[in-house]
Amino acid sequence: MEPIRGYGPASYGQRESVAEKVFGIPPEAAPAWRRLQAGRRLNVTPCDGRPEWISESRTDRREAARLCAGCPIADLCGTYASTADERAGVWAGHDMTSPAQRKALRDQQNGAVAA
Ligand code: SF4
Repeated sequence: MEPIRGYGPASYGQRESVAEKVFGIPPEAAPAWRRLQAGRRLNVTPCDGRPEWISESRTDRREAARLCAGCPIADLCGTYASTADERAGVWAGHDMTSPAQRKALRDQQNGAVAA
């Protein structure tokens, strides 16, 4: 039987790499990005379809960060954000526009590794 074009592991890989180019994913963060996207396909997350995570408003981003606490893939999200050195939006409960919040995420991850 002829495979259906556009489906299957090969085309999946191609779609992933196109998305990585579109979103400007750094090569060193690509594996973490793919794990995060796999997690997103399998889970509903608080940020799905919501604009607060990338809002210009600090109040919106603070609320977004609070809502991340209920996310089932926060670990994957934080790992990607740190690896990619994200500087915009809210990731894993941290407002990455803030140097202090970026450091807090790294410290949290280092503590988790050491524990
Ligand atoms: S942890 Fe990441 S994926 Fe989950 S709600 Fe927050 S920003 Fe979205």
